[in-house]
Amino acid sequence: MSSPQGPQRGIPPHELHARHRAVLPDWLALYYQRPLEITHGEGRHVWDAEGNRYLDLFGGVLTTMTAHALPEVTKAVSEQAERILHTSTLYLNRPMVDLAERIAALSGIPDARVFFTASGSEANDTALMLATAYRQSNQVLALRNSYHGRSFSAVGITGNRSWSPTSLSPFHTLYVHGGVRTRGPFAHLDDAEFTAACAEDLEDMLGQTRGSVAALIAEPVQGIGGFTAPPDGLLAAFREILQQHGILWISDEVQTGWGRTGDHFWGWQAHAAAGPPDMLTFAKGIGNGMSIGGVVARAEVMNCLDANSFSTFGGSPVTMAAGNANLTYLLEHDLQGNARRVGGLLLERLRAVSAGLGIVREVRGRGLMLGIELVLPGTEDPSPEAASIVLEETRAHGLLIGRAGGHSTNSVLRIAPPLTLTVAEAEEAATILERALRTAEIELG
Ligand code: PLP
Repeated sequence: MSSPQGPQRGIPPHELHARHRAVLPDWLALYYQRPLEITHGEGRHVWDAEGNRYLDLFGGVLTTMTAHALPEVTKAVSEQAERILHTSTLYLNRPMVDLAERIAALSGIPDARVFFTASGSEANDTALMLATAYRQSNQVLALRNSYHGRSFSAVGITGNRSWSPTSLSPFHTLYVHGGVRTRGPFAHLDDAEFTAACAEDLEDMLGQTRGSVAALIAEPVQGIGGFTAPPDGLLAAFREILQQHGILWISDEVQTGWGRTGDHFWGWQAHAAAGPPDMLTFAKGIGNGMSIGGVVARAEVMNCLDANSFSTFGGSPVTMAAGNANLTYLLEHDLQGNARRVGGLLLERLRAVSAGLGIVREVRGRGLMLGIELVLPGTEDPSPEAASIVLEETRAHGLLIGRAGGHSTNSVLRIAPPLTLTVAEAEEAATILERALRTAEIELG
């Protein structure tokens, strides 16, 4: 297996791409001018249909949390599949109870209850429904530039317009500052001033609402918004204000959970001073690619629904088997610690290779959730062109990374590998990225 040689630009879509375009929606985003067909993976590597090998620094959009084809997960899935693939939540389900107990204990939420779904969008849907029912209000606070999924209600509260294709919503949503540090009216403030300004903005917003507000939903580090994190403690400052009004705090941990941010197991723990959130939502990494999502909530909130409800695929035994095996591996191998160590080194290396490059505005992130924001050289203008060049160049040299939209208009490179990434792999990635960034600098300079 070899890495592809040289950039492959202007090559017409291959047959599968043409078939894809003929039958799937136009708005289904595809990376690369000549899209990749990934056929298999192992560890931190994947292979395409032409036999090219890539170091995967995007992990299927943060879903491959431990490693591709991790034997422990594969074995657990196949053993469960041989017994039974699926039973309804109408029957007792041992792997589901096992995983629920473990997640409840890890969540930090007292007297926690767990409800499993099949995606992050459904998880946020459920959390919003619970908040609405509990508080008898459909007013929701969300952060500007946020992303919470593609179901109707998740889209309806998402602040990031490029990911929110409809202005219709079952919620009345109020957007507050706090997501993006580097752009906007508060960009020049230091951490303490930024926190104070955002808290004041929240209080001001609450002063303008009529009736009660159900919840604030927030990503501790904005994912699709460009891997931007507020100062530690900002959500704790929010929490104190919210508590005065009885408003619930939902932490959307779909991208930030399971130790990805290195210093903490959950993103909310960087804002723990005022206690845990009332609910957290999770998905992506826990199944290592199997579709698991869910909500953890205080019992009082989770049990406020006066109805029968269930999820056909939420808690399906085969996905729960994957989740249990994956979580065991993650904890036994201290992958949170690895994310902190290797992520810290990679952040330093990326800062070093970007120094002096006019297209790089900022290299940021936590643990193994790192972003490189690109601009037109010598300006503050986001450069999606630079991001496209870097993506094509890195792919051509055997490296997969992601990109993000939001206020930075698709000009942030996103690095979120499996949490088993080694130092040598991080070094290799930094070398390929350096070359790609320099190519973009020359092409746009
Ligand atoms: N919340 C966040 C923060 C996300 O990044 C995503 C997906 O990218 C979702 C929710 C939606 O999850 P899913 O795509 O599994 O529905």
